[in-house]
Amino acid sequence: MGKSKVIAIDGPSGSGKSTIAKKVAQTLNLTRLDTGAMFRAIAYVLDEKLISAVDTTGIEEKLASINFEYQPDEKTLIRIDGIDLSEKIREHHVSKLASQYSQVPQIRNYLKQKQREIAQNKASILEGTDIGTVIFPNAALKIFLTARAEVRAK
Ligand code: C5P
Repeated sequence: MGKSKVIAIDGPSGSGKSTIAKKVAQTLNLTRLDTGAMFRAIAYVLDEKLISAVDTTGIEEKLASINFEYQPDEKTLIRIDGIDLSEKIREHHVSKLASQYSQVPQIRNYLKQKQREIAQNKASILEGTDIGTVIFPNAALKIFLTARAEVRAK
């Protein structure tokens, strides 16, 4: 992988990664990849298809058969197999599913490929676990954002 036109932000939760990513994306006109939304959407769909996060038999075949679209148009953030999941993935139970399914290595690997594909040809900003270390180790700029415990708690 060559040097990507990518800004990668890592750091603990509540440190302000997504707020910063949104502002920078707007100011510099970058594509922002909401990687959390991707984990949420995949978790939701696999749960619906009764693929468990514990017994992951058949998960790779299932992932390979999915039609995954990120930012296909102005209104839609994420669509899987033709279904717009942009709103659905914000439901509370999907947060829980996302954190369970995000432990599955096959899913992390699948989304790594997707994130690289999407960011490949566009100047992008990504934020979240593994972004600067695993997904874009050659990012043009890597930021590790932290904040004091009191600030994060707020
Ligand atoms: O940021 P958000 O709450 O939308 O992320 C949902 C879940 O997806 C997180 O709790 C985390 O478990 C997982 N995730 C991840 N790696 C990322 C982004 C999100 O494991 N880069």
